[in-house]
Amino acid sequence: MSGRVPVATTWLQSCSGCHIALLDLHEELLDLLGSIDIRYSPIVDVKEVPETDLGIVEGSVGNRDNTEMLLKFRERSKTLIAFGTCACFGGIPGLRNLFTREELLRRGYVETESTVDGIVPAGPELPALEQYVKPLNQLVPVEHYIPGCPPLPSTIKKNLVALLGGGKPEVKKRNLCEECDRTKKKLLVASRDFVTDSVVSPHELDNIDRSLCFLEQGVLCMGPATCEGCGARCLAGNMPCRGCMGPTPHALEQGAKSINALSAILPAGGLMFQEDVVGVGYRYSLPVSIYPHLASEVEGTE
Ligand code: SF4
Ligand code: SF4
Ligand code: SF4
Repeated sequence: MSGRVPVATTWLQSCSGCHIALLDLHEELLDLLGSIDIRYSPIVDVKEVPETDLGIVEGSVGNRDNTEMLLKFRERSKTLIAFGTCACFGGIPGLRNLFTREELLRRGYVETESTVDGIVPAGPELPALEQYVKPLNQLVPVEHYIPGCPPLPSTIKKNLVALLGGGKPEVKKRNLCEECDRTKKKLLVASRDFVTDSVVSPHELDNIDRSLCFLEQGVLCMGPATCEGCGARCLAGNMPCRGCMGPTPHALEQGAKSINALSAILPAGGLMFQEDVVGVGYRYSLPVSIYPHLASEVEGTE
């Protein structure tokens, strides 16, 4: 195996989609396999995490097993990569940070409408839930981030090739609107008029103009508050962005940035009538927003 860079991969609290995206490189994976030696991975039957040059971690940290695995990876990897949006920002599992661990367990095992005489399971064989979901860098230093839910296979390859060659992968900085080729007629014109006079879901429109910015048609789109780098793939499929690439590097946080951007172009009070502002603004990045920090201070937990 000489000449090949030793690599380990793992998944924590995740859906495995980021590893699937790696496999989606198909035959291009063979080029990579000429340069890397995968010594530990969910797709390799090895029990002990070895020392490696690259540690690639998918998923956020939600229970004690996740925490222990992340600490092992940190200790044994020269370079640690946060692989995918869950690892970078907490991702979809991070939405549970709206509740405490106790509220969550009670709801899941005792209070659901279909549950009778439920009990919260406990025992040494069950990994205890952490109080809140965290992205990797809230627990250990991380050298490199590959966001996306999941990241594009081509982006994964570009990043790995750069790192294997000793270089620095490109860090995206602009927002998604820069990458989106839909026409932004009104958004580009300084005006006191609202861009749209209503806020609707895509299915409420009889016709969606595939060439025009969603916001100008009254459909919420997270493009202004989301980092570029996905190739605007949802927009190409005629769906608005929901923010899975996370915030741009210099944004304080994604939800605040989206409220700031949308308040300038939606009708007065438009956001107030959204039933799920958190689900729109923080769907993928709640653990890196101000919310969980406030919650842990108030609760005095951790
Ligand atoms: S980032 Fe998306 S694809 Fe990757 S593990 Fe999380 S939910 Fe799954
Ligand atoms: S708001 Fe959405 S549709 Fe409009 S330009 Fe930005 S990414 Fe494209
Ligand atoms: S358009 Fe938005 S939600 Fe869709 S892949 Fe890109 S960043 Fe993610």
